[in-house]
Amino acid sequence: MSYPRLDINCTKIYFNTRTLINKLYKKRISITPVTKVFLGNPIITNVLINAGVNMIADSRVENIERIKLSGIKIPTMLIRTPMISQITNVLKYCNFSLNTEVSVIKKLSLEACKLDIKHGVIIMIELGDLREGVMPHQLFDFVNKIIKLPNIIIKGIGVNLACRYGVVPDKMKMSQLSELATSVENKFNIKLDIISGGNSASLYWAINNKNQTRVNNLRLGESIFLGCESLYQKPIKGLFTDAITLTAEVIESKIKPSLPWGERGCNAFGEKEDICDRGLVLQAIIALGRQDVSISGIKAPKGITIVSSTSDHLVVEAIKYPLFVGQKIKFELDYSGLLSSMSSPFIYKNFQNVKGFELLKK
Ligand SMILES: *Cc1c(COP(=O)(O)O)cnc(C)c1O
Repeated sequence: MSYPRLDINCTKIYFNTRTLINKLYKKRISITPVTKVFLGNPIITNVLINAGVNMIADSRVENIERIKLSGIKIPTMLIRTPMISQITNVLKYCNFSLNTEVSVIKKLSLEACKLDIKHGVIIMIELGDLREGVMPHQLFDFVNKIIKLPNIIIKGIGVNLACRYGVVPDKMKMSQLSELATSVENKFNIKLDIISGGNSASLYWAINNKNQTRVNNLRLGESIFLGCESLYQKPIKGLFTDAITLTAEVIESKIKPSLPWGERGCNAFGEKEDICDRGLVLQAIIALGRQDVSISGIKAPKGITIVSSTSDHLVVEAIKYPLFVGQKIKFELDYSGLLSSMSSPFIYKNFQNVKGFELLKK
């Protein structure tokens, strides 16, 4: 086995997906898994499809292209507004896209006509987190400008919250989205199929909500893969939180002073921290660094403290017993840890229990 290594348990991801589908089915909400942390990996996509989802979402056209080129035929949704320079591939590989700019949708329409295909757009609405979205008071005007565009189908509306400023997707935001859906339908005499209420941060609302709303879809990444939601950083009942772990190897272990000696400037990353003398410590180096993973996104097991990191070295201290050279240390990951380590070419990706899923039909 190679290290550092991500162990990705397909069975646990399958069960997390099924559990979330079941929980939200009762609320009449479908889930669209977001594969961006897995860079559109076909093995994982297949696991999600086997669990019963009927659409896949990703923020990168390249990832969706990878899914489609692997032979997977499921409908796909691009969840970042398309770059004008990528329109042809968006149309080729994505059935739907989230949109916020009239100029982009016009270009989608133009190229869709040339390719003789239809493309569904979901209009994103700005509800306060100040990332993407059309301002609510400009929504009618926006729809007016795109409704007659050939080969464009207005498939629905959506919102994204809790990403930039952590604005909470609460009852008020969700009813606002619901009302906007109904008012667009009434004004333009159309039917919106998808009312997409956000990402994993909307789960808390969705699971606890008792009122009827028009929200009928969530786009979920973190909750499926890590079993928790970002808003309150809490595990979700019934989900595995250890479907994916990161294991790395100890390459040095020594008793060292905690206080550096010699004249001090900034370190390799332009940082200079104040150090207090804690006497001798059980220091170890793990072959894992900032080129592999965002260190703030990993959590060491009990008894081990992460003290610093450089490009290739993670310096840790053992609390009671010294670590030994060659020892394997297993870390938990949060979203930034998962995103960075999945994207790093230095991390070996070990997909576990793949067999069962390959046997099932795509
Ligand atoms: C990444 C992303 C999601 C999924 O977010 P999670 O927090 O992983 O559930 C949903 N919507 C958009 C627009 C995204 O970019």
